[in-house]
Amino acid sequence: MRRCSVCLHRNRVDIDAALDTGEPYRQLALLHGLSRSALCRHWCDHGFLLARIDSALEDIHSGRVPAYDSLAALMVDLAHAFEFEPKGGWADGQ
Ligand SMILES: [Zn+2]
Repeated sequence: MRRCSVCLHRNRVDIDAALDTGEPYRQLALLHGLSRSALCRHWCDHGFLLARIDSALEDIHSGRVPAYDSLAALMVDLAHAFEFEPKGGWADGQ
C-alpha cells in the first residue's frame, strides 16, 4: 500500500491548515517540495478530515470551545464525510 507523501510530511498540520483556507495547490507544492497531484489526492481523500480533527483538538486544548461541543461538531462532520445517517436522523436538522 502506497503511503501519502503529504501525511508523511513534517509540516502536514500547517499544509492542511493552508489547504483549509483555500491556498492554491501550486503555491503549497512549491513551498513544501510536494507535487500538486499529491496535495490534491491528500486533501480530497482524507486531508479535509485531518484538518477538522486538528482544529477540534486545538479548540479543546485552548479551552475556547467546550470539549463536548467540539467533539460533537467533529462527529457530525465525520458522519457527513462518510455519509452516515444516525438512527432516527439528525436531532438538530443537520
Ligand atoms: Zn494524506
